[in-house]
Amino acid sequence: MSLYLVATPIGNLGDVSQRAIETLRTATIIAAEDTRSARRLLAALSISAEGKRLVAYGDHNEAAMAPRLAEDLRAGTNIALISEGGTPLISDPGYRLVQAALACGAPVVPIPGPSAALAALAASGLPVHGFIFRGFLPKKPGARRRILESLKDREETLIFYESPQRVAKVLPEFVEVFGPDRPACLARELTKVHETFWRLPLGELAALVAQEPPRGECTLLVAGVTRGAPADDGPPEGENMAG
Ligand code: SAM
Repeated sequence: MSLYLVATPIGNLGDVSQRAIETLRTATIIAAEDTRSARRLLAALSISAEGKRLVAYGDHNEAAMAPRLAEDLRAGTNIALISEGGTPLISDPGYRLVQAALACGAPVVPIPGPSAALAALAASGLPVHGFIFRGFLPKKPGARRRILESLKDREETLIFYESPQRVAKVLPEFVEVFGPDRPACLARELTKVHETFWRLPLGELAALVAQEPPRGECTLLVAGVTRGAPADDGPPEGENMAG
């Protein structure tokens, strides 16, 4: 049967879609990074876990679990994959499972919904006509620096995921590579009570973060380099392709 990639809230339970609820209700297997928090989510959505198999599926066991779950798909079972929050596979486990499902001919069905990257981008105030989602940067300073250097001349808005502890550590490196004047935005605790956007040039943002280390989940965005007239490879900001 089908593999459903179910996006779940990144903070605010009200963001769950009707289709996500229906899919979780009818799936026989729910593959989740953490089965305890999956049970909590089901309870919050008034979905009974009875008769369902909740299986742990994460970075630690993806290689072993993907072929096993593909067997279940082949046997006619519907599987819903969820992550701890947001859209599965986006800096989250699931890639191998999608590959395994496709290899056995099972339909892979997205159930779209929240994702921190797009929520942050849309509200950042930074250009949206092109963007690069880079996710988590490497922990090793050399590898991190190489990636930042490779991005410094890009015109697209750059999107990074970071832990609050590391934001303060990496921001000075961003300032060194991109310069203090590059517009940036730190989106914190999206969709939650303490949702905050710090929309500042990188130098000021780094100073603020050093003074007031952010708490909670953070998405960092950096504007691309501006070269005179806007690129003509897409519609102007704020316009879509239709019409
Ligand atoms: N798959 C998820 C998605 O679609 O957004 C992302 C999972 S990744 C393991 C978790 C990272 O996403 C966090 O470290 C943080 O950088 C970002 N993130 C998740 N929830 C967030 C929130 N509510 N506010 C800001 N950033 C968030």
